[in-house]
Amino acid sequence: MFGRRINPRLIKLHRPYSVEEAARTLGVHKNSVRSWIKAGLTTVDRSRPVLILGHELRAYLERKRKSAKRPCPPGTLYCFKCRLPRAPAMGMVEAICQNATTGNLSAICEVCGTMMHRRARLDAIGTIMPNLDVQIREAEPRLYERSAPSLNCDNRKDQ
Ligand SMILES: [Zn+2]
Repeated sequence: MFGRRINPRLIKLHRPYSVEEAARTLGVHKNSVRSWIKAGLTTVDRSRPVLILGHELRAYLERKRKSAKRPCPPGTLYCFKCRLPRAPAMGMVEAICQNATTGNLSAICEVCGTMMHRRARLDAIGTIMPNLDVQIREAEPRLYERSAPSLNCDNRKDQ
């Protein structure tokens, strides 16, 4: 009845998924999950077989759904508060490297001051954020990330 729509809420936040499990849970082909990983879905470092944390997967799918509805033009990130693509305040963007190819961009909405996030291929940052001051940084240690509340929680409140 829902066609091929993916329901991110089928994913439990607090468990890791293998590619197979994620595909089965969501009713998609394993290759779809693999293509999400290629497109920037974060996986657990060095895990073999590859594991995806539930909250990462769900956040990724929710972002994907949003961005399918509203593609952000170059020079903008999606502001969950304004519900619009917004330009970064003072033209400043921070990019945290997730791995060798993908970065997590964050910036402050120039209109409402909310933190905005956007995932991007590192080699595409110049195209996505033209003429902006992008600071590229290494990811912080995983341990620290886990103890800090996930930014994705904030996003969900606004939906
Ligand atoms: Zn805003």
